[in-house]
Amino acid sequence: MKIVFLGPPGAGKGTQAAYIAEAAKIPTISTGAMLREAIANKTELGMTAEGYIKQGALVPDEVVIGIVRDRLVMADCADGYILDGFPRTVEQAKALDAMLPNAIDVALSLEVPDENIIARLTGRRECPTCKATFHVTNNPSKTGDTCDKCGAALVQRADDSEETIKNRMKVYHEQTEPIKDYYKAAGKLTCVDGVGAVSDITKALFKALGL
Ligand code: AMP
Repeated sequence: MKIVFLGPPGAGKGTQAAYIAEAAKIPTISTGAMLREAIANKTELGMTAEGYIKQGALVPDEVVIGIVRDRLVMADCADGYILDGFPRTVEQAKALDAMLPNAIDVALSLEVPDENIIARLTGRRECPTCKATFHVTNNPSKTGDTCDKCGAALVQRADDSEETIKNRMKVYHEQTEPIKDYYKAAGKLTCVDGVGAVSDITKALFKALGL
């Protein structure tokens, strides 16, 4: 199953992608996670991406398209994948279609209104080691400040500050949301309500995917 996961920042794509990936036995490919790793490792890619990410702006299309192209040819993608955070522009969506003959089966859009987003993003915590994601109220770890899976101390993402969030939302509406029309025209768009309990949303997503 080849899935593009759409939705505003903080919609819960990362959290839900982990459940889908486990059930469907496919990898999650998160361009944001790949870029953050490159920044942590101080690679050339990381140095290019860092300024854009700090401002909540998009990393240029050609950079992101290049890393996805290199990732999708890896052996673990043979039976499918979940793309989380890519495509983020119609240009990227077109590049994905040009990369592979049947690049995606379904574009799943997790629908969350703007007013829910700030609280979700400012409460978000991430494990710097295994990348598991939590939320201080909606999806807390058992101890509150360490990862349930590997025990590392949880951190807040540098771009989850209120100022950067506002810019990320603007960028989402202007550049990313039009992708929904692109996939709707291709008959591949499925929208799922992303407001409510994490487990209820997982059920709705599994149902939409026939899992
Ligand atoms: P995310 O983890 O998906 O919220 O991504 C964090 C940040 O990484 C975004 O705000 C962008 O600056 C950058 N980024 C991630 N994916 C893309 C993409 N497909 N195109 C451009 N920039 C991206």
